[in-house]
Amino acid sequence: MSDLTPLSELTAAKRIVVKVGSALLVGPDGTAHAAWLADFAADVARIRARGQQVVIVSSGAVALGRRRLGLGKRALSLPEKQAAAAAGQSALMRAWEEALEPIACAQVLLTRDDTEVRRRWLNARATVETLLTLGVIPVVNENDTVVTEEIRVGDNDRLSARVAQLVGAEALVLLSDVEGLYTADPRSDPDARLIPRVSHLTPEIEAMAGGANAVAGVGTGGMATKLEAARIASQAGCATIITLGTRARPLAAVEAGAATTVIEPATTPRAAYKAWISGSLAPAGFLTVDAGAAAAVQRGKSLLAAGVRAVDGRFDKGDAVVIRDEAGREVARGLIRYAADHARVICGLKSGAIEPALGYTSGPMVHADDLALAAQAETR
Ligand code: GLU
Repeated sequence: MSDLTPLSELTAAKRIVVKVGSALLVGPDGTAHAAWLADFAADVARIRARGQQVVIVSSGAVALGRRRLGLGKRALSLPEKQAAAAAGQSALMRAWEEALEPIACAQVLLTRDDTEVRRRWLNARATVETLLTLGVIPVVNENDTVVTEEIRVGDNDRLSARVAQLVGAEALVLLSDVEGLYTADPRSDPDARLIPRVSHLTPEIEAMAGGANAVAGVGTGGMATKLEAARIASQAGCATIITLGTRARPLAAVEAGAATTVIEPATTPRAAYKAWISGSLAPAGFLTVDAGAAAAVQRGKSLLAAGVRAVDGRFDKGDAVVIRDEAGREVARGLIRYAADHARVICGLKSGAIEPALGYTSGPMVHADDLALAAQAETR
């Protein structure tokens, strides 16, 4: 068949975030779908064996917790949902651990603040990066126990897009109970067509998320939240693939040409991150660096404390700072790893002298990954 071509967005991505909804994970009896999970785990193991990294965003805590707490199927208040999530999250992790064995997985619970407050964002990112480096699969969910209405993401479609942004993923797969985005309701309209590819999320496309597609997703999010997730992902340089998750090996099915809607990224993850650093963050301080450090930064190296001559401003760890040379020219902007007081203490010190001076080290002043060069900022 001509459509048996692997979907390049999925096969080329170094990092893939897969969102698994409650409907796939939890059966009508309120227990985890072990057979589906085992097949899905094999699908994930296959992708990892080709060298790709996978992050799973998993719902199901509330659904599993309902049964544990004997809450039946009735509508739950927010405190009841939180209680159910607290009881169900451990059952959810046990199901994932059993399914993914022998691959290790780790529970990562996030709230909206963790992806919005820069310092927490950096901490969450560092942890997830470390897990991926160690070959572990992070299994992410919202930290339902502590969130209130104002600070919750509320649905795992959008949470998964924020996770994709956090880890710089190139592909986000939203496993759904529909095959993708349709032009009309396929159950009632014989002319309804699946839209295989969306290059830009136009108002016309977004309007399609209402009406016919609104019922999609028996979990929290319908098609509207999926397209919202796709918008966040696209701006972060990540492609979104919406596809039917009820199949035994949904990722293999996508690669074999199964029906999907792909929403293309508007940029690359790296460019999106650098644009965020150089454009959207108000700098809170200035680092004046010597010629050697300025040249190193321009070559894409980290800024070491040894090359910093002066520290100005009041800033916290994770804030944006401007790096300038001794003539006052801006060299780059970046996220600093030390608060201003500590940066002043270690300014000019060799890396090995940081720990004796502060009692800890966070590595370079500004890591290369968190730097956007001034020239790059101008050309965008
Ligand atoms: N965090 C919720 C849970 O684990 C799910 C939210 C969603 O499905 O979008 O039950």
